[in-house]
Amino acid sequence: MKRETSAQLFEEAKTYFPGGVNSPVRAFKSVSGPPVFVKEGRGARFYDEDDNEFIDFCCSWGPLILGHNNEKVRNAVLDTVKKGTSFGTPTRLGNVIGQLILDNNPYIEKLRFVSSGTEAVMSALRLARGVTGKSKVIKFDGCYHGHVDSLLVKAGSGLATFGVSTSAGIPESFAKETIVLPLNDLDAIDETLQKHGDDIACIIIEPVPANNGLLLQDASYLKALREKCDEHCVLLIFDEVISGFRVGFGGAAGYYGIQPDIITYGKIIGGGMPVGAYGASKGIMKYISPDGPVYQAGTLSANPVAMSAGIAMIEQLLAPDFYTDLEAKTKAFISDILSYCDEKGYEVTIPSIGSIFWIAFTKSRITKADQIDAASMEKFKVLHHELLQKGVYLGPSGYEVGFVSAAHTKEDLAEAATKMKAAFDVVFA
Ligand SMILES: *Cc1c(COP(=O)(O)O)cnc(C)c1O
Repeated sequence: MKRETSAQLFEEAKTYFPGGVNSPVRAFKSVSGPPVFVKEGRGARFYDEDDNEFIDFCCSWGPLILGHNNEKVRNAVLDTVKKGTSFGTPTRLGNVIGQLILDNNPYIEKLRFVSSGTEAVMSALRLARGVTGKSKVIKFDGCYHGHVDSLLVKAGSGLATFGVSTSAGIPESFAKETIVLPLNDLDAIDETLQKHGDDIACIIIEPVPANNGLLLQDASYLKALREKCDEHCVLLIFDEVISGFRVGFGGAAGYYGIQPDIITYGKIIGGGMPVGAYGASKGIMKYISPDGPVYQAGTLSANPVAMSAGIAMIEQLLAPDFYTDLEAKTKAFISDILSYCDEKGYEVTIPSIGSIFWIAFTKSRITKADQIDAASMEKFKVLHHELLQKGVYLGPSGYEVGFVSAAHTKEDLAEAATKMKAAFDVVFA
């Protein structure tokens, strides 16, 4: 496979953008070769500047649950664009998507649109602090919440100590507002809430942690978090930027049957346009300006183009059996690959939930970030390279999950499975 044009474009891009990219993982630092410069997508596939074809399991990092270039989303965007792209006023389209979401998602009563997942999380934290009058936040090692200052932190030394920033440019005083705990560890939660409960505004968690491998938690753990938050007057935030509209229309809240206090959304909600949102009960959302004292605003928030993409997306997600079909397809795809790996004795598992999957080079169940063997990423690098050569695109890091979309046909998945098996043969040769 020739990838010369991508290589050339990447060299040129390096003169314009730091590292040649506008979001770091795109630079392919953890895998080999230049990033793929894509020019067009259709269904489960995209085509690069060298005219290579790839079956795509990155799906723009999750938003494309209907695959590339979905006809209804495209037509909705084109119709709206003809009338203008942004007015800075409310529009009827905003009401339409608001009603579609709130009528079908019992876990929030009001929502506010923003323009990215990061913005949704940042606003949700401010809201939690505004409601509780407390300032500290508990987050978990292995959960990603966008590039919010106070959440780009790792655990300091010792259990339940305050965070240390993981990026330059974040004052330690910001990082100290965050306490970082291991996932799936109730003792750590108990100890921290006992000691600092009076200062803690919220616990934020990806209920389906999918940004550092797929660290599926026990439902009982998530339920216990809910109870402990109530005991200590701490708000529970589910960051559902990936899991929202992905593991079911009601996201992880619906999947596990847990009512969080605030939920953040992004990715799928905008139909592939830059959109995020956060929602909660009416009682909590009344703190948001202009109703309440918590300020939050956005020039392009709820712009009609993004709203129409979201509407066209969401209407399709509400079709009967949409999620059961997608999950069944994903399960069949994974079990096909896994039974081959088992037969060959390859040390691989593929944890999954709904249409999210992760390739783990171990036989053990992994629920915490520090259980991932960094050395296994060398195997992922080989796998990624082999799959690119064969025309299968995975996110360019072994810590990233894969997504199956409704556009992946049984034939697409059978073809991808055959190529994956051959790639695993090379990894374990
Ligand atoms: C992607 C993601 C974010 C950040 O969203 P952006 O749109 O990239 O700012 C936040 N939280 C989670 C769980 C995510 O997966």
